[in-house]
Amino acid sequence: MNVQTGKLIRNCVVCGRRIVITLYPDKTYKGGHFFGKLNISKRKKAEYWECNRCFTNNSDVS
Ligand SMILES: [Zn+2]
Repeated sequence: MNVQTGKLIRNCVVCGRRIVITLYPDKTYKGGHFFGKLNISKRKKAEYWECNRCFTNNSDVS
């Protein structure tokens, strides 16, 4: 049984902390929260990631 997982290194957009995201074959992931892509310019796109801590903090604020 060889389960293939991948790793992504990203930075949290909010606090700048490095996040290590683990990707699974069923397209789920763990380690951070992905919100989509930001258009910086016509040619540049950035991925918007938040670390677990910032995600939790944001959720607490209502
Ligand atoms: Zn963060």
